[in-house]
Amino acid sequence: MPAQHAVSITFDDLPYAAVPADDPATLNSMTRRLLQHLQTAQVPAVGFVNEAKLYREGQPDPARVELLRTWLEAGFELGNHTYSHPSLNRVPLDVFQADLLQGETVTRPLMQSEGRSLRWFRHPFLHQGRTAEVRSAFQDFLAAHGYRVAPVTVNNSEWVFAAAYARALAQGDEDAARRIGTAYVPYMEVVFAQAEQLALDLFGRPIPHVLVLHANALNAEYFGALAAMLRQRGYRFISLDDALTDSAYASPAGSGGIEGESWLEGWARNAGLRPHQSPPVPGFVRQWAGPAAYRGY
Ligand SMILES: [Zn+2]
Repeated sequence: MPAQHAVSITFDDLPYAAVPADDPATLNSMTRRLLQHLQTAQVPAVGFVNEAKLYREGQPDPARVELLRTWLEAGFELGNHTYSHPSLNRVPLDVFQADLLQGETVTRPLMQSEGRSLRWFRHPFLHQGRTAEVRSAFQDFLAAHGYRVAPVTVNNSEWVFAAAYARALAQGDEDAARRIGTAYVPYMEVVFAQAEQLALDLFGRPIPHVLVLHANALNAEYFGALAAMLRQRGYRFISLDDALTDSAYASPAGSGGIEGESWLEGWARNAGLRPHQSPPVPGFVRQWAGPAAYRGY
């Protein structure tokens, strides 16, 4: 009998991250396949939008806005991931806040048209601000604008696999794409095993996790296999609201200055624990991803 675990699934960088081509037909079919996996596995999910990615020639591209509508019509929720994906560790707070507000221009009315309010915020790069002053001022700003932070406890290099997968498909190498996809799920299982252990070390019990993934071609093909692996490990899929009712999420923020560190890793570091070294991404996956993969997150 596997242990009972729970996880909330989130997707960043909507309307899409790594894809082999960005024509409307490819994006539409990728989005529908991904959402189909979520519906089949009965996974609640929140998708976090970078509205800068909606724009072409200075205007929101209706085909890309339609992708966001597809998420809403399939019953999923959208959140704000800023307009242009800046780092709160690297830009001044006022610049960051202006970018965040610019990032709700399209999404807020879309949510309202579905009778919902825009209420989740996800930090780009998971950067929470370098100083306690910035973190506290930003928390006040979020509260004033009706946002709640969507933390991440299961951080991972899925985006490197996704960049590799999209590049292999773009080059027509389906065999390489399959090898990359086949390596993805076992990699994620090691990532989860580490997060489970770190939660046990820190809290003495399992916690409901929050996983960050991206809206990409890799998950459009492999999310079903990922969900099956998680169920096999004893996971059920819960909403972000439900995950955050756990007292673990009342823990104070970590130092915030470490690139891509999850909340769980930050809490562990605060408590004097050293988070595990992330499992390595296989060399052939890194090669396929190329240098472009190291910009995104
Ligand atoms: Zn992002």
